[in-house]
Amino acid sequence: MGHKERKHALLSASGAHRWLVCTPSARLEASFPEEESDAAKEGTLAHELAEAKLRNYFFTADFGKRKLSAAISRFRKHELWQEEMMRYTDEYLDYVKSEAMAFPSEPSVIIEKQVDFGAYTPDGFGTADCILVSGGVLHVIDFKYGKGVAVSAEGNPQLGLYALGAYEAYKMLYPIETIRMSIVQPRLSDGISKWECSLKELLAWGEYVKERAALAFKGEGDFYPGEKQCRFCRAKAQCRARSDHNVKQAFEIGQLPPLITAKEAGERLLALEDVAKYQKDLQEWALSECLAGKEVPGWKAVEGRSSRAWTDMDKAFEVLQEHQVPRAVLFEEKPLTLAQVEKVVGKKEFAEIAGEYVAWSPGRPALVKESDKRQAITNKITAAEAFKEDSQL
Ligand code: SF4
Repeated sequence: MGHKERKHALLSASGAHRWLVCTPSARLEASFPEEESDAAKEGTLAHELAEAKLRNYFFTADFGKRKLSAAISRFRKHELWQEEMMRYTDEYLDYVKSEAMAFPSEPSVIIEKQVDFGAYTPDGFGTADCILVSGGVLHVIDFKYGKGVAVSAEGNPQLGLYALGAYEAYKMLYPIETIRMSIVQPRLSDGISKWECSLKELLAWGEYVKERAALAFKGEGDFYPGEKQCRFCRAKAQCRARSDHNVKQAFEIGQLPPLITAKEAGERLLALEDVAKYQKDLQEWALSECLAGKEVPGWKAVEGRSSRAWTDMDKAFEVLQEHQVPRAVLFEEKPLTLAQVEKVVGKKEFAEIAGEYVAWSPGRPALVKESDKRQAITNKITAAEAFKEDSQL
């Protein structure tokens, strides 16, 4: 099936992180049109390229070099094509190859498999990018081309549903005991996430899914606003539950003690997390309403600050130089940033050629959630450091 034609169930696997938590969201979202952003279209193109490379590597007899080259030529004509897609999809291919080779015996490789998890969610189905099965292990691998939000494989509900569907499809053919799930997000520097659980744990989670899915399918249960689940919800601007929640977080502070404690600060930072994003979503929606000629009391759409752009930059520069403006004044030569050079050269080659000239300096301290994988830091001197300093006096 072409990636563009991938159908979506009401309770989609990609939306499971939302409807599992906020069960009425699926029905509410269904009343909003599904719009495909440029980023989504770009992701579709990258998926098609990734699929072609996988087919070529694992099923060369059916999908040989000529077919791969023809597919790549076709993709290159796409308006959203970027040459870097070749490199990123190679990273995905390399990962799948290395995982397949790590199996004690050659696994079955299943690419772009529509899996049916209807036993857990009504009419549930989805398409898994790649499945490897062998030696009691079922490994579901998902390719993500986005670079905005890092997605973790740990307890990931989308992959969990694919794994349930894949298990249903292959349980008669393979003895499966371990479920492995990976997300490959090659545009992020730390873009590979891998997690595993036992089949027993997956099936126990499947029972929880059944209960939540039954509510979600009927549009029942409680709305549960939160930064993660609301972020890509199609109802996010107009949803009353999210609106009430954020207004409450922002304004209903209650009785104010003179100073808040660290515990309160932590709780309030969590509670206020979605407020700014919600305000932005609401502004975007209100602007679109005003532009459509509808009334949003107290607000109106106006023309923003105008900007200037060349109509013909080459001609303008030519004329300026004819009028004695030196070329050196018009052009500046500056080196690309480290990240840009790495992008142009390629991660591996860059590390090999110029890696020794790169030094890492610690980043500015940042406040993140406790769940973040990075190690916590502090300015406090440890006893060992203090002792070392004393002994050097
Ligand atoms: S915006 Fe948030 S609270 Fe409202 S339906 Fe969507 S996920 Fe639920």
